[in-house]
Amino acid sequence: MTYDFVIIGAGAAGIAAARTARAYGKTALVLEARQRVGGRAFTDASLGIPYDAGAAYIHFSDRNPWVREARRLGIETRLWRGWTHHEPWSGGAPISPEDRERRMDGYGRFWEHIETLDDDIPDMSLEAAAAGLDPWSRGTVSNFARLGLGEEPSRLSLYDYLGEWDGPDRIVPDGYGTLVAAAAHDLPIQLGATVKRITARGQGFAVETGQGTVQARAVIVTVSIGVLKAGHIAFEPGLPLPILRALDGMAMGALTKVAMAFDGERFGLQPGDDKILLDAPGGSMTFEVWPYDRNIVLAVTGGDAGRALCAQGEQGAIETAATLFSSIVGQDVRRHLVGGRLAGWWTDPYSEGGYAYVTPGASDARAALMETGIEGLYLAGEATAGGRFGACMTVAGASYAGWDAVKRAVAAMR
Ligand SMILES: Cc1cc2nc3c(=O)[nH]c(=O)nc-3n(C[C@H](O)[C@H](O)[C@H](O)COP(=O)(O)OP(=O)(O)OC[C@H]3O[C@@H](n4cnc5c(N)ncnc54)[C@H](O)[C@@H]3O)c2cc1C
Repeated sequence: MTYDFVIIGAGAAGIAAARTARAYGKTALVLEARQRVGGRAFTDASLGIPYDAGAAYIHFSDRNPWVREARRLGIETRLWRGWTHHEPWSGGAPISPEDRERRMDGYGRFWEHIETLDDDIPDMSLEAAAAGLDPWSRGTVSNFARLGLGEEPSRLSLYDYLGEWDGPDRIVPDGYGTLVAAAAHDLPIQLGATVKRITARGQGFAVETGQGTVQARAVIVTVSIGVLKAGHIAFEPGLPLPILRALDGMAMGALTKVAMAFDGERFGLQPGDDKILLDAPGGSMTFEVWPYDRNIVLAVTGGDAGRALCAQGEQGAIETAATLFSSIVGQDVRRHLVGGRLAGWWTDPYSEGGYAYVTPGASDARAALMETGIEGLYLAGEATAGGRFGACMTVAGASYAGWDAVKRAVAAMR
């Protein structure tokens, strides 16, 4: 049969696209390479303690459709207390209360500074935008860039960052990945179907997977730009020049998590006694301690430090995270470690990075990605979300992109 839509990828964008296609009464099939749905929204339970290996926070929750979806599915969400509670450590000790205050003030000064920039300044990197500020401001910008955006501040476009939505975060005790997967439960999804080639043929497309070829009138490609740039999917004819240019102006960050499960020993720390190690190698690393009162610690870093951690492989990364955590708690935590996992999106062939960012000077790249110029072929996902919605880099943004692509395709079919 020829489907109205073949949707590539069963992450948030693919799920939204499939649901929208169904709402319009169109036939659709989702092809997913992994043996699970959710993509980068994944609640990993393999340690016996669930944790979010990818997305964990429902950002801008005052308007995020996943809050409504959680309510519909009966999945609890809670308001997150925010990002300023981490106890900063440096040189083997917590920094002084005075330095902590200077750090917070520095953060505030950066926001004030960028909010008052002239509208007509040329695009520049976040690092350049902070260049004239004091060391505390510059330090907090670097931390924020690596831990919030997954990349070094020198590589991130200020314009792109300014276009992002803000708002209160919510968390999901059962896992954001669990929520996203629940939203996909009744959709036509073929797992283990790695798409290798998409060929425009007559009025439609042939989509080749290891499991056979599927025909479609329209194709929605939701794989990350990391997967696209790596050339894992061949396009015939090839992607047009404006798309290749847009891809050149974007890259994938490397937000990276290491989960460490413990035997019940809590090292004198209470749930929520989260730390940030400012002088971890290559950048800072946060430690989320006993989230939801579970015997697990999540170490998070990003940018080149995240890439270095992924390059160590799972055992090496767990060892590094445990050593750094030991330096905070003052004893060797390895004696109580019962398991660990590296959420190494940077080295994952179905993701090829954490999430997409825009390089300085290429701030129209997200919008450009939305127009392939090939009738019936749409790119949609977190990377394209900033083109029309300021929700890039998020699960919600991916969903918006999925809905939007199908709506545009249906309009074009009419
Ligand atoms: C560590 C980390 C933390 C994050 N934290 C947050 C957060 O707190 N809040 C938030 O909102 N967002 C967060 N994000 C971002 C969020 O996870 C993503 O923006 C969103 O999940 C992307 O959805 P997507 O559908 O665009 O892409 P994906 O989820 O990547 O979906 C694409 C799918 O395509 C599949 N695929 C790849 N190649 C092929 C192929 N050849 N054939 C078939 N299928 C293929 C993949 O397996 C995947 O399932 C985080 C991301 C990471 C990595």
